[in-house]
Amino acid sequence: MSSAVVVSSENLDEKQQSVSTPVVHAVEKKVNLLGMSRAELEKFFEDLGEKKFRAGQVMKWIHQYFVTDFAEMSNISGKLREKLEKICEIKAPDVVHRNYSKDGTRKWVFRVGDGEGSLVETVLIPAEDKTGARKTLCISSQVGCALDCSFCSTGKQGFQRDLTPAEIIGQLWMANYSYMEEVPVAERERTVTNVVMMGMGEPLLNYDAVLSSMQLMLDDFAYGMSKRRVTLSTSGVVPKIDQLAQDIDVALAISLHAPNDELRNELVPINKKYPLQQLIAACQRYLAKDGNESSRRHVTIEYVMLDGVNDKPEHAQQLLKLLKNLPSKINLIPFNPFPHAPYGRSSRNRIIAFQKTLSDAGFVCTIRQTRGDDIDAACGQLVGQVADRTRRAEQWKKKVAQQQEILRTQG
Ligand code: SF4
Repeated sequence: MSSAVVVSSENLDEKQQSVSTPVVHAVEKKVNLLGMSRAELEKFFEDLGEKKFRAGQVMKWIHQYFVTDFAEMSNISGKLREKLEKICEIKAPDVVHRNYSKDGTRKWVFRVGDGEGSLVETVLIPAEDKTGARKTLCISSQVGCALDCSFCSTGKQGFQRDLTPAEIIGQLWMANYSYMEEVPVAERERTVTNVVMMGMGEPLLNYDAVLSSMQLMLDDFAYGMSKRRVTLSTSGVVPKIDQLAQDIDVALAISLHAPNDELRNELVPINKKYPLQQLIAACQRYLAKDGNESSRRHVTIEYVMLDGVNDKPEHAQQLLKLLKNLPSKINLIPFNPFPHAPYGRSSRNRIIAFQKTLSDAGFVCTIRQTRGDDIDAACGQLVGQVADRTRRAEQWKKKVAQQQEILRTQG
């Protein structure tokens, strides 16, 4: 069972509940194999006096068959299974809350860390396109975020800490597992088709953990995902974009949100450190690294549509100018307001007019469907709500304990 988490179940329907993670108990000092890359696992087995190929076998059990009990790993000798049982574990973060929307969107709040820990969220969005059915998982890389973009619910929570590789890949593991819980082990298969590192946090500020998690996503012994289907989205940490270009081949997205420095300084403050000219040049270098690779033919530009702020005709014209030498696809995101948000969502007509200007100039420009509105799909929102409920439940428990203490002393 998961560590004790109190989340009120009032107003939650049967698909929207506090839950316990199905994975093994956390035992102190056991090594968690979930976040280990192939190289790390090979070294681990060599240090145990075992052959390196055990790494691949165990990775398949973990990441392709979603098995957490060593006893089920039938191609591993009984002796080694016993040894692993004693010193290792396979543990995804605890699920403390999950919402499954009517439109197929799924959202989880995970507790990471010991004791009270911290909350992070992950959302899965299904879609159909010409390549077939997609299930795209938006993964968090940090607890909170230090960059404080003015339209972002996560930014308002401040930065707490980086996630570990096990906590990052654990989100992908759990999302896949959520479709496999009832399926016999031999028939299990990976369900999530696409990953975007675009949840809570700035992934390039947790570089090493994010890199090793993405390596697992691409590894044929783990998730074996196509590099076109793994996207890292950054608000623009320029030196790390250059490092990423050297270290791994994945698709790149930029949280742009403004077409000029003055406005971007306000919406995405890291722009003061790495202004637009530097950011666009870094994107060009990223694509130039190996422009023939399918993952590097274009950059995706994310642009949240804020009513009266960045959605005017002149902004569309400025965006055209800014991107004229950068192969890019533009994704317009209708803003999903959160409590006390200083912005509103642009009108549908405004968004369509903005899209037309960009499309007429030859850009592929899509409007993100608003999905999962019934489960608060804006990044950082659900965590805030679950934390509030948890706090209220804790306050209530304290109050009951105080009253019991008063009754005891009076009695
Ligand atoms: S938009 Fe991304 S980078 Fe900006 S505060 Fe939110 S999580 Fe951080």
